[in-house]
Amino acid sequence: MQTPDYQRLDRAHHLHPFTDFKALGEEGSRIIERAEGVYIHDAEGHRILDGMAGLWCVNLGYGREELVAAATEQLHRLPYYNNFFKTTHPPAVKLAEKLCRLAPAHLNHVFFTGSGSEANDTVLRMVRRYWALKGKPEKQWVIGRENGYHGSTVAGMSLGGMAPMHGQGGPGVPKIAHVRQPYWFGEGRFGEGRPAGQDPEAFGRECAAALEAKIQELGEDQVAAFIAEPVQGAGGAIIPPASYWPAVKAVLAKYDILLVVDEVICGFGRLGEWFGSVHYGLEPDLMPIAKGLSSGYLPIGGVLVGDRVAETLIEEGGEFFHGFTYSGHPACAAVALRNLELMEAEGVVQRVRDDVGPYLAERWAALAGHPLVGEARSLGLIGALELVDPASGERFDSARGVGPLCRDLCFAGGLVMRSVGDTMIISPPLVISHAEIDELMEKARAALDATLARLA
Ligand code: PLP
Repeated sequence: MQTPDYQRLDRAHHLHPFTDFKALGEEGSRIIERAEGVYIHDAEGHRILDGMAGLWCVNLGYGREELVAAATEQLHRLPYYNNFFKTTHPPAVKLAEKLCRLAPAHLNHVFFTGSGSEANDTVLRMVRRYWALKGKPEKQWVIGRENGYHGSTVAGMSLGGMAPMHGQGGPGVPKIAHVRQPYWFGEGRFGEGRPAGQDPEAFGRECAAALEAKIQELGEDQVAAFIAEPVQGAGGAIIPPASYWPAVKAVLAKYDILLVVDEVICGFGRLGEWFGSVHYGLEPDLMPIAKGLSSGYLPIGGVLVGDRVAETLIEEGGEFFHGFTYSGHPACAAVALRNLELMEAEGVVQRVRDDVGPYLAERWAALAGHPLVGEARSLGLIGALELVDPASGERFDSARGVGPLCRDLCFAGGLVMRSVGDTMIISPPLVISHAEIDELMEKARAALDATLARLA
């Protein structure tokens, strides 16, 4: 079959995630056929540098034979068995042990799921169950953040603060509230009614104060947990001001509220540590994980559970009526285990922290000199460019679609960079080389130039 054949069948039968079905039908999909290293190849023979590691997940890059072998071997030996009731299998047990060894010391248990969304559904059930067991069933509210992303199931969508998602599909899960995000460039610098001269650090503290105000409004005895990504991914690679997390920690320490750190993107090396929580010195009670856990080769997620919650669930909980057919699926667990072994053996995380992260940071920061770029930020191997009108230095009217235009020009130029409105983001495979970072930069700059030319 050729591209038009795939496109015809795709249009006729396939509803894509997060897609305007009608618009895609008119435009036609890109057909990605194969990949190796940091490159994907479409059905027309174009080789494209994947600046997004798929969907922030292909941490070890494409075409790793060791992961294929791990899956194949496990599929031959035991393609499926479950972890319900009183059975398990070697890959799930070994992976659980490995994860708890890599995670901060107080996280010693894991509950497996099939995805990040399922991990956050599990979080919600565990948090509320924990407080009920503690004799405080009224502690039910969970506070998330506006523009946070925690998945697309009903619970994931409700915990997340994506207004367009909330706007579709009616009310979500009750007793979930949202507070402002620590997005300096968007809501700090350009937010309505900003006091003149405020700096990002003052803004970071203000966002933490908003959390405290929300806790007081809801009643501290009613609030079960706060959930947040260390760096917001889908919201636009939003790196909080340095003041933010210490101030949030102080607020949470003041009230008896659990901290849930969603590591679905930041986990497994993205920020140059095994977990974003380590980078920011956080001690989460619960830590949802997915994506980079298996480098995206097979679907698997989970929740790492801190001792305080685990002990209560284990000692006082009785049966926990929760689980998925594919919780800890043997082939997925075997691939995840091999993935973590390879990451350790190859020193991938340290390389992000000490080598490619700083290399990318320096090159990326130079893009701030481009007339279209109002801010260039990065941490580890996650980065964002904020597009602004060169004439005014202000943000564009979002209806102009400058970010999506830049994204399309990027793709045409052989680079996947995603746009979140007018924020261009990257999250490349962690194994990217210096030469490939150079190529990414050249292509990003060329796309910015082409975007500017189109606006003229
Ligand atoms: N949490 C975060 C921070 C994510 O970025 C995502 C997905 O992008 C999810 C949860 C949901 O994961 P999944 O798509 O595997 O359900």
